[in-house]
Amino acid sequence: MTSFNFSTWPPQLTPEQLEALTLAATTYALSHGLLYLPPSQSPSNTQPRIPTTAIHAPLSLIPTPFPRAQFQAARELQSVYNVLYARVAMDTHFLDAVMGAEEGVGKADEFTGTLWRGWKKIREHGALAQPLHLGLFRSDYLLHTAEDRLALKQVEFNTISSSFGPLSERAAAMHRNILASTSYFSASPHLTADNFPENSTTSGLVEGFSKAHEAYGVRDARILFVVQPNERNVFDQQWLEYELLEKHQIHVVRQTLADLAVSASLDPSTHALILTSPTNSSPYEISAIYFHATYTPSDFPSPSYYDTRFLLERSRAIKCPSLPLQLAGGKKVQEALTRPGVLERFFNNEGAKWGARALDLTAHAADIRATWMGMWALDSEDVDIAAALDHLPDAGQAQGSVPPGTRLARLKAPSLVLKPQREGGGNNVYREAIPAFLDALPTEEREAWIAMEMIETPRGVSAYLVRASPSSSGTDNGSIEKKVVRVEVISELGIFGYALFGEGEVVEREVGWLVRTKGTESNEGGVAAGFSVLDSVVLV
Ligand code: ADP
Ligand code: MG
Repeated sequence: MTSFNFSTWPPQLTPEQLEALTLAATTYALSHGLLYLPPSQSPSNTQPRIPTTAIHAPLSLIPTPFPRAQFQAARELQSVYNVLYARVAMDTHFLDAVMGAEEGVGKADEFTGTLWRGWKKIREHGALAQPLHLGLFRSDYLLHTAEDRLALKQVEFNTISSSFGPLSERAAAMHRNILASTSYFSASPHLTADNFPENSTTSGLVEGFSKAHEAYGVRDARILFVVQPNERNVFDQQWLEYELLEKHQIHVVRQTLADLAVSASLDPSTHALILTSPTNSSPYEISAIYFHATYTPSDFPSPSYYDTRFLLERSRAIKCPSLPLQLAGGKKVQEALTRPGVLERFFNNEGAKWGARALDLTAHAADIRATWMGMWALDSEDVDIAAALDHLPDAGQAQGSVPPGTRLARLKAPSLVLKPQREGGGNNVYREAIPAFLDALPTEEREAWIAMEMIETPRGVSAYLVRASPSSSGTDNGSIEKKVVRVEVISELGIFGYALFGEGEVVEREVGWLVRTKGTESNEGGVAAGFSVLDSVVLV
């Protein structure tokens, strides 16, 4: 088998063919709920708005080539990651050391520290009413070119608000539909149905919710979605709601943290989460809580918002994620796992005091490690890092109190990205921007950052990206030049999985995938932030 030449992508199309594909794609998207809310003219801090218009999600016209072997490998690894992160979330000592506000990154990062202190207070008061946790995970990967070989490398592991499952399913369906209707004008021999993998992420994620609902054991209880008031990616979440109701007869209640400050209370004896409803005379009991908010400091405009988050944590509802599971998704945890001997901690029950199902992490340790790039902490005093410095020509003398981790980051800046403890895009510092950033970084904030080697993706692969008209007022002038751009791109694969777990048990499954594609001129990958588009794969 010959290897695929990425720089031949995408196949050549005439302007007329491009126009026909764009018409097919945008029409499909609008017909099938592959949608966003347009940017709001009058944002609200508290209430979701009632939609009056929608725009199609940003899209790729032709799926992105991805090596079949690496695609399969990523899917097969997901169960291992599901179990690993479930074990991390159950390991209180580990999370205290890595994420805590006394010994860990919570000292330097106020947001992480506040979440950790809230969790600690609850567990010390013996107020953890629910032993089960639900994780809906997404492990993100890029292809790394090293010595002419392609390797699958993990960007990050998401344990909170892992979005775009339903929309990615629809993006894959759109590409399959375009293939069926146009054969992509026979532009490439790779564009055949066999190379378009199945995507049924929505039902898989919903299976996770329904398992949690069943475990809670109250048939008429509802699932709570905690949402941001100005969320534009509402249709993605809505598809989960529809599937829960239509396939599992489970109702969903959507509320913001501000709503919940008024509506939520705990039953004094059972700690059941009870929500009063403005439309229903009797209150709802909540079986599971899906946090589609609370992952970023701006979700907490005042301290009382944290009180509401902690009230939810104390409830008997199954949290997706619980505070420890949210903390387990920290970038600092991802870095800590790469340190010598740390992964081994999760091979057995020591430290975690937690038995699990038969999946033997030991057997997969090498596969997991092979997906990691080099990572270290900026405040690291590690001897291995100091030794690495000794091998660099310009390392110079130890500079007073500057820790080896920071010195190494400065010297290797062109091949690094620095990341703080934040989710949702737009927070990282890349390559050439690193030295000046380090100059300005206060010493006490160093501990909040990790350095990560850049994944070097295949060069010269391009795509046709389609954006909705920037105008939300409907004055679409139909100009195709403005709508479709051909640019060089990077594509990020995400694999979804769920895990329902507690002391001694875990039910987990790999449930689907997503591809986001972005222009190489943009370092970031957040689809909702407008930097990238929804895509799917053509396996090569
Ligand atoms: P966030 O929580 O903000 O999504 P990520 O770790 O996913 O943080 O980083 C955001 C984006 O930055 C990624 O989608 C990817 O495009 C880029 N990125 C992050 N880490 C790397 C890396 N090691 N190599 C190359 N690109 C990266
Ligand atoms: Mg990310």
